[in-house]
Amino acid sequence: MPYHEFDCSTCIPERKKHAVIKGPGENLTDALPAGYLSTIPGTISERGCAYCGAKHVIGTPMKDVIHLSHGPIGCTYDTWQTKRYLSDNDNFQLKYTFATDMKEKHIVFGAGNLLKKNIIEAFQAFPNIKRMSIYQTCASALIGDDINAVAEEVMEELPGVDIFVCNSPGFRGPSQSGGHHTICIVWFNDKVGTVEPEITSDYVINYVGEYNIQGDQEVMQDYFRRMGIQVLSTFTGNGSYDELRSMHRAHLNVLECARSSEYLCNELRVKYGIPRLDIDGFGFEPLSDSLRKIGLFFGIQDRAEQIIEEETARWKPELDWYKERLTGKKVCLWPGGSKLWHWAHVIHAEMGVEVVSVYTKFGHQGDMEKGIARAEEGALAIDDPNELESLEAMYKLKPDCIFTGKRPGEFAKKVCVPYLNAHGYHNGPWKGFEGWVRFARDIYNAIYSPVHQLAMVDISQDQVPMEGGFVTRRMLSDTRLSEEVAQSPELREYTGKYDVMPALRSKTKEDYPYLNPEQQTELV
Ligand code: SF4
Repeated sequence: MPYHEFDCSTCIPERKKHAVIKGPGENLTDALPAGYLSTIPGTISERGCAYCGAKHVIGTPMKDVIHLSHGPIGCTYDTWQTKRYLSDNDNFQLKYTFATDMKEKHIVFGAGNLLKKNIIEAFQAFPNIKRMSIYQTCASALIGDDINAVAEEVMEELPGVDIFVCNSPGFRGPSQSGGHHTICIVWFNDKVGTVEPEITSDYVINYVGEYNIQGDQEVMQDYFRRMGIQVLSTFTGNGSYDELRSMHRAHLNVLECARSSEYLCNELRVKYGIPRLDIDGFGFEPLSDSLRKIGLFFGIQDRAEQIIEEETARWKPELDWYKERLTGKKVCLWPGGSKLWHWAHVIHAEMGVEVVSVYTKFGHQGDMEKGIARAEEGALAIDDPNELESLEAMYKLKPDCIFTGKRPGEFAKKVCVPYLNAHGYHNGPWKGFEGWVRFARDIYNAIYSPVHQLAMVDISQDQVPMEGGFVTRRMLSDTRLSEEVAQSPELREYTGKYDVMPALRSKTKEDYPYLNPEQQTELV
């Protein structure tokens, strides 16, 4: 059994089953690390809680909604503006955060009245917003506040408002993944089927498990519209509350992040018979295959092929420019859940980097199985690592870059390892053909930033060697290339705009020749 024991965790022997090294020809059924279990006492996890998974990951990207936490203000802090899920309504859901701010006296005497007062106050402060999601926390769950009853009462008193209640306290399940599951099921049970949509196309999809990080949803929606597809709803990035109530009328569920929201697709399949198609918007090949599959489902494959051909011709020379300079670089792929397997193979195939470690904080064993299968031989796979284990792995593996969240990312910087924010991105969107080039550019910028040379300088010395002079990224990256490759006229650096969203949002009906006239009204 190729389990890996960290030196720093010998005092916690149970941790040994949570890390493996992928050996040659490994039988993965013997080698899978234990996963999605309660964190072992004595180890400090970097996981989020089930409230965070429900509110922060899934709920809050809904755009036309007041998102209210019912609990102490501390619960809300970590969910405040930490993820860049944009929306085309001026980022309402990113600008404001709402909490009832429970105190000790509410724990003793109950916080139902406080909740009602807060709901009404929030609706009065934002009279144009008529929808609300309320999220339970540990404190409000433990004292037994009946949030659903309060919400019902307010809906009777304020005609026109609609409130969704998600009872997913932090202690529900071992990690944020429990919250993903809960909110999917509660949304399905309570809200799906309560609004009848206008169907304007023969090709209608729900786009599920997509959170519009720095515009990902809008990039993918553009491709769908170019194919003449009506995107009935997006769960939940840039998604509208009422559109998500009408998910039952789609012809197909197109699922991106299976880890967080396959539950919803499965329910829609069972009750409404809507098929599920898993896709992948990251990487030229996976994205091309995804568009083809959707085209094949609706019998409009030619439209998908047209997009693939145009986009590949436009962006492939730029991707290859970065591939030449990134080939052989070692990266640790340490995201939360599904990006583990969305990225593991394709960053190697299309950017040339080697994945020397994969880890997941809240992924299940199935995620790890797919991630390990797609990583390099010898890769170190870790489930729910603590900070010391991550540090030990970095010292041992000496990666050129790690892709992870901002908490482990900050300590990586302290040991002079560049990191990219795998959750909120650096200069996204990273989905789509252009987005994939932007990701490659971010990796290139991280690895070759001259700041790393400066970071290595020991400023405690009186004399610092200066003879190296100033170097640029290009000087660092091109030294190992042949003259022919370095000066290739076919390859070029990224030539897109700094911010791609204005151009996407200003597209007109001429850009979407396959959309029906009724669908034109969908355009923002
Ligand atoms: S674990 Fe409980 S108390 Fe802590 S942030 Fe989550 S909901 Fe709040």
